[in-house]
Amino acid sequence: MLKSSGSETSSTGTPAADTAVDTPVGTTVGAVADTAVTSTASTPDLTPAERVRYARHLTLPGFGVPGQLALRSARVLAVGAGGLGSPALQYLAAAGVGRITVIDDDVVDVSNLQRQTIHGSSNLGQLKVDSAAATMRDINPLITVNTVSERLTVENVATLVAGADLVLDGTDNFSTRYLLNDVCVALGVPYVWAAIFQFDAQLSVFAAEHGPCLRCVFPSPPPQGSVPSCAEGGVLGVLPGLVGTTQAFEAIKILASFGEPLVGTMGVFDGLSGQWEYVPVAQRPGCVCSPSARTSVAEALARSVEESGADSAAACAFPATSHSTPSHSTSQTPHSEDPETTQIPEASAVQLIAGEFEDSIVLDVRTAAERAAGCIPGSEHIPLDHILTLDLSSAESLGLESSRPVLLYCAAGMRSMTAAQHLAALGFERVTSLRGGIAAYWEALAAS
Ligand SMILES: [Zn+2]
Repeated sequence: MLKSSGSETSSTGTPAADTAVDTPVGTTVGAVADTAVTSTASTPDLTPAERVRYARHLTLPGFGVPGQLALRSARVLAVGAGGLGSPALQYLAAAGVGRITVIDDDVVDVSNLQRQTIHGSSNLGQLKVDSAAATMRDINPLITVNTVSERLTVENVATLVAGADLVLDGTDNFSTRYLLNDVCVALGVPYVWAAIFQFDAQLSVFAAEHGPCLRCVFPSPPPQGSVPSCAEGGVLGVLPGLVGTTQAFEAIKILASFGEPLVGTMGVFDGLSGQWEYVPVAQRPGCVCSPSARTSVAEALARSVEESGADSAAACAFPATSHSTPSHSTSQTPHSEDPETTQIPEASAVQLIAGEFEDSIVLDVRTAAERAAGCIPGSEHIPLDHILTLDLSSAESLGLESSRPVLLYCAAGMRSMTAAQHLAALGFERVTSLRGGIAAYWEALAAS
C-alpha cells in the first residue's frame, strides 16, 4: 500500500488505463524547461533552511536557485530500491527532489548488502521501500517520500507513471522494463534506463519526443531462460553504485534543465577496462515510439500482458540489439529448442540437507567457473548447454539413468528448471529442481 511521509497523499488503486490517458501527462525533456521557468515565477523563494542545505548547488553556474526550485517541485517515480536504486535514491533525496515515489515489493536480505547500500544489517527482513525511505528521510527531511510495497504491474503502472515528471528504472527484469518503456512512451514521460551485468553496464535516457526508446534498441524481451539472472551471473557490488549514481545525474539534469541528457546515445561501460563508450541510437522505423506507430497506454498494457509469458524472471544481462549497439559482454545461456514445458516439481534446500535426496543423482548444471567457486558435496556436473544437446542414449552414457531420480541445481533455480524440462522431455520420470539454487543451499546451511 502507498504511504506518505508528508501531507502528500496519493493512491495507486486501480488504474486504469483510461483515466491515465486523460490525466495530464508528465513532462518531456523539452517541456521541463518551460515548467522550470514558470514554476520559478510562481513559486515562493527557497526557505532559509533550503538555502543552507543546498548552498553548494546555488553557486553552480547554470543551476542556482532556479535549478533548486525545479528540483523541489519535481516528482520522480523510482522503480526498485535495490542495487541501482540505492545510490540513485540517496542522491535524488540529497539533491532535494521534492516528491519521490519508490516502488518495490521485496524485503532486505543479507545477500543484498554487498551492493544495496541504502540498506544496512539492521534492516534485514524489512520491506526495502521502508528501509530506503527511512534512509532518504534521514538524509533530507525536507522532501516527501511515498512508498509503494507492490510489484510494478499493468494494474498500477499507468497511475504511477502519470503522476511523475520522470521515471528512474532500477529494476532487474525485462518485463518491468518493457512495461515502463511503453507506458513512458505513451504518456511522454522521460525514462532513465540502465542494465548491469557482472562488470558491465548500459545506460540511456529515453524521452519519446526527443529520441529513441528502449524498443528502438532492443525490440522485444529475450526468451525466458535465455539470459542469466544477476543471481546466476553475478554482479560486482560497486557497479550498480556507479551506474545508479549516473542515472541520478541524468535525472537531475532533466528535472533542472541543464546540460545534455543522454538521449539518442547509449553509454556502454566496460568495468574491467574502466572505459565508457558512447553509441548513437536512432529511432527505429515502426517502433512504438515513432510518430506513425505511437501507442496508447491501453495498448502498452495489452502488449505487456501478451509478452509476460516471455519473461517472468529477473535477468540483468542485456537483450539482443536491433542494430549495432555493442553487447559484447552479454553472456547468454542457450535456451531449450523445445518450447513445450512440463510442470517440474521443486524441492527446498532444507529437504536436501535433511537427506531426502540421498537416492538421487544431484546434478549441478552451472558453468565450470561457477562450480569451481563451490558446489554441493557429492553432486555431479553437466553444464546446462551440454544437457540441452543430450538425447536419451547420450544422457545414459554419461551416467544419467532415466529410471533414477535426479535433483538438478544451478545458482538460483532458473537454469536447473530449464535442464529439468529437457530431461523430462527425454523420458526422465523423476526430475526435481532445487528451488533457489545453491544460493538457497548456502543460506539453509548457514541457518542450520
Ligand atoms: Zn522506440
